[in-house]
Amino acid sequence: MPSVKVESVTKRFGGFTALEKVSINIEDREYVSIIGPSGCGKTTLLRIIAGIIRDYEGHVYVDGRLFDSEPLEKRGIGYVFQNIALFPNMNVGGNVSYSPRAKGLDKSVVRTTTIEMLELMKLTERYYDYPRSLSGGMQQKTALARALASNARLLLLDEPLSLLDLKVRTELRYELRRIVKDLGLTAIHVTHDQEEAMAISDRIIVMRRARVVEDGTPLDLYLHPKRIFTAYFLGESNIFEGNVAEADEDTVSIDVGSLLIKARNTGFQTGERVVAMLRPELVELGGDINARVLKKTIEGLFSRIILDVNGIKIIIKQPYSIVSGIGEGSYVKIRLPEKHILVYKYPGRDLYSELSLY
Ligand code: ATP
Repeated sequence: MPSVKVESVTKRFGGFTALEKVSINIEDREYVSIIGPSGCGKTTLLRIIAGIIRDYEGHVYVDGRLFDSEPLEKRGIGYVFQNIALFPNMNVGGNVSYSPRAKGLDKSVVRTTTIEMLELMKLTERYYDYPRSLSGGMQQKTALARALASNARLLLLDEPLSLLDLKVRTELRYELRRIVKDLGLTAIHVTHDQEEAMAISDRIIVMRRARVVEDGTPLDLYLHPKRIFTAYFLGESNIFEGNVAEADEDTVSIDVGSLLIKARNTGFQTGERVVAMLRPELVELGGDINARVLKKTIEGLFSRIILDVNGIKIIIKQPYSIVSGIGEGSYVKIRLPEKHILVYKYPGRDLYSELSLY
């Protein structure tokens, strides 16, 4: 069963470092997503695990077996890459059934697997069509069906749903997770779509500039990111920079300019420069902070409101029905709940560099 271990992998393209000492462990049957700004090395990492890129430093193990010299075709990996490479001379059915046929499986097994995967991707009617006549989204679904039909225990998926309409993409992400779980597969899924990563994964790995920043369950990364970069990159966050004005064993008061923010003390002292973070969904209405509504937009059943508190911008997200009466220019009272505010040591270089994507 496929567990994956990437040990201190560095990859350079000429003078450019695409991966710098990257180490990750993926458990057997785990569904892991990799997210990170464009160009941070996600695809390069998948291509190394797949065996497409061979010259790198460090090691890749699958199921404890050293894979660095393992030929591509012997790795038993199913993959869907961004530049979908369907066999142009085979129709959809031929593409999907390719791997089971190549393995010499019984004809009836090949047929059942192929039909099952095509049904799942709602491609049955396209069985006899050739790739050139398919839309990008259909090609992507064919590639996904082909990878799933290959019987591989390890799936590497690079933006496998990116070309699909939002509706289909949302449906298919749950199907994809269900199949991976039902069949007991291991999946590594690279995506730009954070919601997709949050919805589909057991664990998310966050990368930036050729390195792993941190990893954790979707909820942990959202609610308790260890690094301020993760708080900034994953979803939306209110980030405040300031100095600890007062600290006792339990709480800190942080002076962020025209506002004092109270938070639990996780080891800070008076005078220390810190960064505080609070998710917009966790700002509460009805406290003693007076805020002016600058902008209000609708996100589904939620409203996203940008508030001004003495020159400090605070984003809040509340169910639409609760804030339906609040208009731009009006005033609201808010509370920044102590227990939900995370405090970080001010980053070594500066906050701007710490949060920069590239
Ligand atoms: P995206 O999200 O945009 O797909 P990514 O995180 O997958 O980005 P990679 O495709 O892994 O990023 O690329 C990492 C860096 O390595 C990029 O700056 C890219 O330009 C560079 N790179 C990738 N492949 C090559 C190559 N064959 N030759 C030179 N540079 C490369």
